Amino acid sequence: MSSDLLGLRPVAGEVVYGSFEVNKVPIPLVLAKGSRDGPLLVVHCAQHPTEYSGSAMIATLLRELDLSAMTGTLAVVPLANIPFILRTRVPDAYPAQAGSLASAEGTPRTNINRCWPGVEDGTWNERLTYTLSHGLFEQADAVLDFHSCRMCDPNFTGYVNTSPASREIALAFGFETVDETEEEGHFSGQLHRRVPIELGTPAILVEMSPTSKVVQRHRVLDARRGVLNIMKHLGMLEGELELPDTQIVFHRMASKIGFRTSQIGFASFHQPEVAAVEEGDLIVEIRSLEDFSVVEAHTAPTSGGLASCGAPTSHVVLPGEDLGTLEPTAEIIRN
Ligand SMILES: [Zn+2]
Repeated sequence: MSSDLLGLRPVAGEVVYGSFEVNKVPIPLVLAKGSRDGPLLVVHCAQHPTEYSGSAMIATLLRELDLSAMTGTLAVVPLANIPFILRTRVPDAYPAQAGSLASAEGTPRTNINRCWPGVEDGTWNERLTYTLSHGLFEQADAVLDFHSCRMCDPNFTGYVNTSPASREIALAFGFETVDETEEEGHFSGQLHRRVPIELGTPAILVEMSPTSKVVQRHRVLDARRGVLNIMKHLGMLEGELELPDTQIVFHRMASKIGFRTSQIGFASFHQPEVAAVEEGDLIVEIRSLEDFSVVEAHTAPTSGGLASCGAPTSHVVLPGEDLGTLEPTAEIIRN
């Protein structure tokens, strides 16, 4: 299987750098092929223009990969949404695409991650998603779609509940937190919802904070471990998966218990951002700004999976701010 991918030819034992074009804009594409034919894994990064978790990881991964010990091909789209990305630093970059994007402004399809699997003759976003869907994802064995999330969220992977193969990938990636979402809903044009259904290729969302154009080194290493896990899972590399002792699967549509401040104070957390908790476990205390005594305490009313536990903006919290959610029906998986 050494056929071209978006016009670029993989070469056994080599990393090939190139690009493909959408409306004459070159989008970077990198192909790393092992010594033997095998699965095709796509690492897709930065469809949102300030979210570089995957883009920042990929050079570290490529530098360390032993292609002679690898089977199959790793295809990387390191900077998918390049016109938007460049506009975060250079306002007038790609004026033609800026016009096409402006004409779509205010519609649900301004956001590229509402446009999958794309439209052949559509707007810039729809053409880009169409080209990637049919030129690359359709042939792939799995697609990993890298994003960045809020500081108070843990690293997590997401999958659509109608794709068991995507669930396997989401768990094998090896983050402690996994988010199951329904197929329909107001974000239904998302890559990880549409690609498994329309193209039959397992695909997951990978979310890692922060959403701020920079990626900390420890996140780079987390992302690299996840990709190596998927390569092992697909048989591209030998070796055991590195999994955490506990993984928790949350369900978007399940009912949740929210923890919220009722007064101003300093929030002291007694759990990590995500955790399996038992009834009665202390989650967070609000301390007085006058004498630092406890003026409010939140404990788990039932056992379950705790998520987004942390200060949303500051540890000095205001009345009504969210401090975390508990899902009683979350699946707790012990590895
Ligand atoms: Zn995103």
